[in-house]
Amino acid sequence: MNHVRSHQLFSHAQALMPGGVNSPVRAFKSVGGEPFFTERAEGPYLFDVDGNRYIDYVGSWGPMIVGHNHPKVLNAVVETAQRGLSFGTPNPLEVTMAETITRLIPSCEMVRMVNSGTEATLSAIRLARGATGRMRMVKFEGGYHGHGDSFLVKAGSGALTFGVPTSPGVPKALADLTLTLPYNDFQAATALFDECGDDIACLIIEPVVGNANCLPPREGFLQHLRDLCTQHGALLIFDEVMTGFRVALGGAQARYGVTPDLSTFGKVIGGGMPVGAYGGRRELMEQISPAGPIYQAGTLSGNPVAMAAGLAMLDLIQAPGFYEGLDAKSNTLCDGLEAAAKDAGVPFSTQRVGGMFGLFFSAEKVDTYAGALACDTAAFNRFFHEMLDRGVFLAPSAFEAGFVSSAHDDAVIANTIEAARAAFHAL
Ligand code: PMP
Repeated sequence: MNHVRSHQLFSHAQALMPGGVNSPVRAFKSVGGEPFFTERAEGPYLFDVDGNRYIDYVGSWGPMIVGHNHPKVLNAVVETAQRGLSFGTPNPLEVTMAETITRLIPSCEMVRMVNSGTEATLSAIRLARGATGRMRMVKFEGGYHGHGDSFLVKAGSGALTFGVPTSPGVPKALADLTLTLPYNDFQAATALFDECGDDIACLIIEPVVGNANCLPPREGFLQHLRDLCTQHGALLIFDEVMTGFRVALGGAQARYGVTPDLSTFGKVIGGGMPVGAYGGRRELMEQISPAGPIYQAGTLSGNPVAMAAGLAMLDLIQAPGFYEGLDAKSNTLCDGLEAAAKDAGVPFSTQRVGGMFGLFFSAEKVDTYAGALACDTAAFNRFFHEMLDRGVFLAPSAFEAGFVSSAHDDAVIANTIEAARAAFHAL
């Protein structure tokens, strides 16, 4: 594969942007080498500026659940844009969006639209602190909730990939209010709430961790957290920025049957435009300005073009059988990869939940953060490049989940598995 133009662009970009990118994991720093620059995307494919085609399992890090450049989403954007890009007044699409989210996610009786997942989580913990009058919050090691100060304590995703899970620049006074727990550890959660549960404003969790590889919750774990929060008057926040409309139409809360007090969303609800949202019980959401005293605002929040893209996407994913289809694709892909690794004698396992999956260079099934850290990262990095050379783009870090879309048909998945057979052998 030739990467001449990507190389030129990356050299230029590095002089102009920190690390040459606008979001860290894109730089390929942990897997080594240089990123390709994408010129266009269609269905399950990315096409780079040098004319190479890749089967894409990153999906813009989650939003592209119906594949890239879906005509219905594209048309909604174009039609809406022709009437103006932003109004600064309420617009009708915001009401339709709120109606749709509250119908699909019954725990959200009211919702507020924002512009990113980070904004959604920042706003949700401000609301939790304001509503409870408590200041401490709990998160999980390896959990990533955007780059808000309170969350950059033992964080996953890029923070973990680059070995700075707790970032310089986060005031110690604030970091001290963030308590961390090991994911899927029932006893540690009980012990923490026994010790200081009555000081805790909220517990925030990725109900399926997708930023420290892909770690599904153990049977009963989410309900255990629900019970602890209820018992101690703390709010349970499901950060469904990744899992929302990804592991089921109703998100992880529907898939596992556990109801949070507040939820955060992003990625899929924006259809590829910059969108986030948070929502929850009416009496909590009514404390947000201007209904209540807790302040949160946004110049571009509820942007008509972004709402149109999101609504088109939410329409597509309500097609009958959509999530059964995604489950089947993830299973075919992961079973195929496991079989290919086994034939090549490579210790390897997978996790899959709905349209998200994890690849682990470990003989055992992994469902803890410690387990994810113990995997053979060097083997993943080599595998990543062997796959890229064969036209398959996996997330460029051992600590990120992968995503399938409805555009990944049987042939695309079979091609991926064939590439993996060769890649595992090449290790
Ligand atoms: N929460 C979760 C669970 C995420 O996966 C992400 C992004 N990967 C965020 C929050 C932050 O979203 P954004 O990058 O849109 O700010």
